Amino acid sequence: MSALEQDIAKILITREQLQTRIADLGQAISRDYAGKDVLLVCILKGGVLFLTDLMRAVAIPHAIDFMAISSYGGTLTESSGVVRILMDLNSNIESRNVLIVEDIVDTGRTLQYITENLRTRNPASLKICALLNKPSRREVNVTLDYVGFDIPNEFVVGYGLDYNEHYRNLPFVGVLKPDLYARPNQSGTDTV
Ligand code: 5GP
Repeated sequence: MSALEQDIAKILITREQLQTRIADLGQAISRDYAGKDVLLVCILKGGVLFLTDLMRAVAIPHAIDFMAISSYGGTLTESSGVVRILMDLNSNIESRNVLIVEDIVDTGRTLQYITENLRTRNPASLKICALLNKPSRREVNVTLDYVGFDIPNEFVVGYGLDYNEHYRNLPFVGVLKPDLYARPNQSGTDTV
């Protein structure tokens, strides 16, 4: 067991479960967007492992782009909902079919901000593909068009998701041992 794995209380979603579900999502996306110009917009940094596996599961031609968002003024385990764009898209999305690829939806505030922002750029369509969803935490209404897994209200790491920039490289999604993140954290931190 690696040093990182020793910090995990339990594995919630295994590497195999991730790959099986992502293959299904890729098939659904390939079917729904067949014959269309689709742009996958990955929200950095957490969505990056999901994007690269999803791309390999999507059998139709597609383009990719990236956006980095900071959740400002929250803690390391709670996003504040006050969001700003750290890095914007390179592409012009007007009249294109945009599919946002996000790691996890918690309160929904980050995605609400992103979708409102992208809608002003007049894409032909705007949909969301989220790997993980915590329905019990939702504060605002966002429609998720593709969801990998609904998960309980627990802080998860791995497969792109971090705690203080660590654990992103774990090949599974797991719950951190509570004593590792129960410590109070300074406010005003930017998390990406
Ligand atoms: P929301 O705006 O929906 O409350 O939060 C979305 C963002 O908060 C995600 O993109 C992610 O960066 C972060 N987040 C929410 N829940 C978790 C979690 O359980 N683990 C990690 N690592 N990040 C989370």
